Amino acid sequence: MTGPVELRREIHRNPERSGLEAGTAKRLLRYFEPLRPDEIIHGLGGTGIAFIFSATEAGPTVLLRSELDALPIQEINEFEHRSLCDGTSHKCGHDGHMAILAAVGEKLSEKRPARGKVVLLYQPAEETGKGAAAVLADEKFVRIKPDFCFALHNLPGFPLGDIIVRNGTFSCASRGMAIRLTGKTAHAAQPETGVSPAKAMCQLITELSELPSAIDFGGELAFATVVGSRLGEQAFGTAPGEAEVWGTLRSETDETLARIVSHAEDRTRQLAADHGLKSAITYQDIFAASINSERAVEVIRLAAGDGPLSVAEQPFRWSEDFGCFASVSQCAMFGLGAGNALAELHNPDYDFPDELIPFGSDIFLGILKQTMEIQCS
Ligand SMILES: [Zn+2]
Ligand SMILES: [Zn+2]
Repeated sequence: MTGPVELRREIHRNPERSGLEAGTAKRLLRYFEPLRPDEIIHGLGGTGIAFIFSATEAGPTVLLRSELDALPIQEINEFEHRSLCDGTSHKCGHDGHMAILAAVGEKLSEKRPARGKVVLLYQPAEETGKGAAAVLADEKFVRIKPDFCFALHNLPGFPLGDIIVRNGTFSCASRGMAIRLTGKTAHAAQPETGVSPAKAMCQLITELSELPSAIDFGGELAFATVVGSRLGEQAFGTAPGEAEVWGTLRSETDETLARIVSHAEDRTRQLAADHGLKSAITYQDIFAASINSERAVEVIRLAAGDGPLSVAEQPFRWSEDFGCFASVSQCAMFGLGAGNALAELHNPDYDFPDELIPFGSDIFLGILKQTMEIQCS
């Protein structure tokens, strides 16, 4: 490997899903060892790894985060660096984010920060919402004690290299809700002797879809998307006794999301009772809202200088687990325009544009310059 672009392509060829990124962490270790970081922390929150570059003079600790994981999506691109792993590929650009931090590492290897410490954190399992919490809960993280944490996400549909910031919520809180309705199967010739969840399931799908417009959320973003459902089996002699409905609930604040969740739970229980069914609800992919601190956003503004910077009018609808870092430091996430002609994130033809790497490393280096000059309270 000779540089960040080659690193990005090697990682793209060898994607690993959330929580299983041991090979990716090893590739990063091979890349960083010759850069002689002052400290390496292995196994953070599972497969996470951090490379630390320190000054001799005391000062702030600034953490820059990249994700490690790829997605369960089959790549349809045919280029030379396409995924070698069937059914898994880097469709969120985390391979590019990793390369950006590697480019920052190259610079820090040549020239250490003037004071303080820079922590380049590669975090596992962002896509499932579990990684940031696992890193923060890891006792090895305690010794990092960051004053500032920053992360970027590439944004297709915005001009290449544009910086997109926002005070307050940057990306929404969300959670996946799995509802199970249980009645009683019967012979299809005598459905009246069973308890079918079919009607309740259909009503629940309709109500969940209409939930955001049925309640006043004070103008906040609020969404409920039914992502799937299942009723009975393809067994033509059997009337169904079980159904599942899966939905993703989303809002710009954790408080409003809690209201949506509570409403969806109430309606599920009521519908189940009305139809003589049992109900059970489980949650997964739980993300808190990612809330930016004004001080950290100001650092990004100063770092962007005269370069193109815009303010997002609304929070982004997608979710990110970076928000967890707000519990330990001043933190901000920002968008980095990835170009107008690019496929959307999580689409099977998406590929992180290599020409974006220097834009990302430049803004991060600007952020380091700004924060190292700020005295921490
Ligand atoms: Zn993603
Ligand atoms: Zn992502």
